[in-house]
Amino acid sequence: MGAFGKHYEQLACPFCERGIINCIFIPGAVSMKRAVTASLPGKGTFHKSRDVWIVQSGCNSCGKKKEEVETELRKNRVI
Ligand SMILES: [Zn+2]
Repeated sequence: MGAFGKHYEQLACPFCERGIINCIFIPGAVSMKRAVTASLPGKGTFHKSRDVWIVQSGCNSCGKKKEEVETELRKNRVI
């Protein structure tokens, strides 16, 4: 059992919320240390570990393509 194992996840479609989107989720285990010492006021902290989501399918309910689903999920900060 590897620590970097892929997880198969199913997300609800962001458009119709009925369809199931098949995704692969790879947890961002590696901590990338970048120079974040300079404080950037009002810029929001991006301190989430870098998870990787791979959208594998479009919506089987409303027919949105996987590119559209992925864009929407990213916009909604789901992935
Ligand atoms: Zn849908």
